[in-house]
Amino acid sequence: RIFTFRDVTARRDADRALREGHEALAASERQLQVAVEELESTRADLAKRNAQLEKLNRELRSVDEMKSNLLANVSHELQTPLVLIKGYTEMVLKRKIGPLTAEQEKGLSVALKNIDRLVEMIDNLLDFSRMERGESPLDLEEFPLWQVVDEVVELIREKIRSKDLSLTTEYETDDLMVRADRGKISQVFINLLTNAIKFNREGGRVGVRVTGGEQGTLNVEIWDTGIGIPPEEQDKIFERFYQVDSSAHRRAEGTGIGLSIVRDILALHGCSIRVESRAGDGSRFLFTLPLGRTAPAPRPASVRFRTGQQEGQGQRR
Ligand code: ADP
Repeated sequence: RIFTFRDVTARRDADRALREGHEALAASERQLQVAVEELESTRADLAKRNAQLEKLNRELRSVDEMKSNLLANVSHELQTPLVLIKGYTEMVLKRKIGPLTAEQEKGLSVALKNIDRLVEMIDNLLDFSRMERGESPLDLEEFPLWQVVDEVVELIREKIRSKDLSLTTEYETDDLMVRADRGKISQVFINLLTNAIKFNREGGRVGVRVTGGEQGTLNVEIWDTGIGIPPEEQDKIFERFYQVDSSAHRRAEGTGIGLSIVRDILALHGCSIRVESRAGDGSRFLFTLPLGRTAPAPRPASVRFRTGQQEGQGQRR
């Protein structure tokens, strides 16, 4: 008798392994199928979402356009009667229409001051809407920066005086010929200096400091000893209509577009602006301006104004 023994254990194991492998594969395939289906439905969702977003975007653009048009029209419509009101108020104040009692004069002076504020706000809104619609191309010319600074200081002299502030202008370079849109750069200085005054305390200080910048640029700094801007607000203040929400900031009136105009004007010139400040500790707005090619004109003396009088004029640094 011959007995044959075959060890079938190994084969059985292999069979089982194969079967299990097959099952695992089938399970993976099912999982894959589910994943593919999920992916497909996510893709469809995304496509739908995308279409919705695009629609929303179009709607937003059209609302934005409507807002711009409304802003432009309303500001324009407001300007005309306001100019008339201002003209008549000035006439009455100058007694061209008849005599005026001291009381009436006082009342009308307050009215005129507020009319001027309205005019300023509306001018700002108009500037802003012109720039937003790209209706405000640059009119480039070369001019000495100190001339513009002097003109602006003259414009805001009364504001400086009424808050008993002192203003210092310092030039630390001879190369002061810039190539820029004179009217717009003037607006930059008006807006920044008006803020430096507005957010200052009685008897505080404001200054303009100009130094040579990197190749082909000037560095300008407009500083104040006012209430300052908390760090978390410093990026936002350049946004349209943004105003810092603190009781100290709210006390000053405004529209919240001054700085966005400043930023836009500088960007049109290829320049940028930033702010350094601490709450309660004054602010420094720093920006660059493009230098011109004309030979530098002699630098003016550094000047300090206090309550409308010039002090230390003629001192060269
Ligand atoms: P507006 O002055 O009309 O409110 P701006 O765009 O010029 O608008 O300024 C935006 C906000 O930034 C101001 O409302 C104020 O909160 C803050 N800000 C601007 N300049 C200064 C400054 N020099 N000191 C403190 N806060 C400032």
